[in-house]
Amino acid sequence: MRSLVWYRGKDLRIADHAPLHAALEDDSNGDDVEVIPVFILDDFFFAPEATRRTPYRIQFLLDSIASLAANLEHLGSRLIIASGRSVDLLPAFAAKWKVDRVVAQSWVAPVGRARDRLVARNLQVPLQLFDTETLCPPGSLRTGSGDPYSVFSAFARAFARDMKVPPPLPAPRSLPPLPKDVKPGKQTLPSLRSLGLARNDRALEGGERAARDRLKAWLKRDAKDYDELRNLMAVDGTSRLGADLKFGTLSVRTVWHAVDRALRELSPDALRVYQNELLWREFAHSTLFDRPELLVQPFRAAWRGFPWRDDEAGWRAWVEGRTGYPVVDAAARQLLATGFVHNRARMIAASFLAKHLLIDFRRGEQHYLEWLTDGDWANNDLGWQWSAGCGCDAQPWFRLFNPVTQGEKFDPAGDYVRAWVPELALLPAKYIHAPWLAPARDLAAAGVRPGSNYPLPVVEHAFARRRFLDTARRHLG
Ligand SMILES: Cc1cc2nc3c(=O)[nH]c(=O)nc-3n(C[C@H](O)[C@H](O)[C@H](O)COP(=O)(O)OP(=O)(O)OC[C@H]3O[C@@H](n4cnc5c(N)ncnc54)[C@H](O)[C@@H]3O)c2cc1C
Repeated sequence: MRSLVWYRGKDLRIADHAPLHAALEDDSNGDDVEVIPVFILDDFFFAPEATRRTPYRIQFLLDSIASLAANLEHLGSRLIIASGRSVDLLPAFAAKWKVDRVVAQSWVAPVGRARDRLVARNLQVPLQLFDTETLCPPGSLRTGSGDPYSVFSAFARAFARDMKVPPPLPAPRSLPPLPKDVKPGKQTLPSLRSLGLARNDRALEGGERAARDRLKAWLKRDAKDYDELRNLMAVDGTSRLGADLKFGTLSVRTVWHAVDRALRELSPDALRVYQNELLWREFAHSTLFDRPELLVQPFRAAWRGFPWRDDEAGWRAWVEGRTGYPVVDAAARQLLATGFVHNRARMIAASFLAKHLLIDFRRGEQHYLEWLTDGDWANNDLGWQWSAGCGCDAQPWFRLFNPVTQGEKFDPAGDYVRAWVPELALLPAKYIHAPWLAPARDLAAAGVRPGSNYPLPVVEHAFARRRFLDTARRHLG
């Protein structure tokens, strides 16, 4: 049996890789097991205008493909890299190399599903997909009446009742070499520079080894206190595995079981809270699987046609971290500088854009998708629609995060702000989340000149709150 293992960017590993495992297992007709691993640098992601929009994801992706290629080579195989359109190249390779089948991990995101349908249509052999992007096959959990869930708590209860997470598959110990008639070609990975990008060492390092090291370090360091640390924006207390789960440098079931083993006895509360976050990921993917239209429209029909404002100055202030609200600005700057934003800061910043500024949340969603290393269709859409109040199991639409009190609660010493908004670094904690309230003496001592070296708020909180509530009430009836 000759299998083409098609790596597609959400499965960049050798451990717990169901398609690779299946390719090695199958010797049913007594023939040799032949494995051809392929990665296609698809124009959809790698055309120059696309890579420039997603710099940190591309950096992580290239690290991860390079690491995958090295790991496959170490085991005796070789990753074939090609450049072009998957829908054309993949069927052409399959025919040229006379493979018996193509195996791959399925995608939840609509763009991947559309691609797979086209590829399957163009292939002369079966395309066998494995549902291991998530803990359970998307679409498999249903309410009593057979519908998709739209409430997270019910989804999580059903998961606990009906699902058992299978243990991860081990990494193979060796792989067969490429068949003799299969020539890998000369294509290599492009450098960041050739794609018009410069490496940013503050962004997360990709690759399976780096992912495993990250998981191990977090389990040793902060995992046991996750339930207490996860909301503190200045503390590096979360796992930072978002990009690994997105690109599949770790499988989600590997993370699920590793955390289970490490915390079951040591810290059951932290375990419960962390696994609950993985279930939010599951819920997000399941929701997008059932409702692909969510990438372009709100989950709640009443929100369609919402009168978002055209506010280019507000948008630029939000993107560049100049709104005059320190936590919102810290989030914006952390994103541009590192490709990461703390979850609490994501919620505050997203709520601010949609509700305080009344700017269409989809604009923010697109910005996050482009700049976050873990930028992911399903989780990002759920997060944005949740924050705007129009999503599946969203926070109540009439709740606005107050950026000042949120800052005081989840960054009490102001260290998150100090790290990302250095203009305010010397302000006492008491005023750091609302510098415009600081006495002139404190401002002068800290070198802060509101309206000059740090902006005054682009919109006053009480006014913005009223404006949003009036607008939403009018629209939603
Ligand atoms: C506006 C907004 C946008 C977001 N965009 C993304 C995105 O593009 N990609 C992304 O992976 N997450 C997104 N999230 C969810 C969350 O912020 C990140 O998953 C998390 O901050 C990643 O850091 P971590 O791995 O240290 O998280 P941890 O707290 O260690 O969580 C572990 C894992 O659980 C999953 N997870 C945690 N929280 C959520 C959540 N609310 N929804 C779905 N899955 C979750 C992630 O896979 C995460 O890596 C977004 C949230 C908001 C409010």
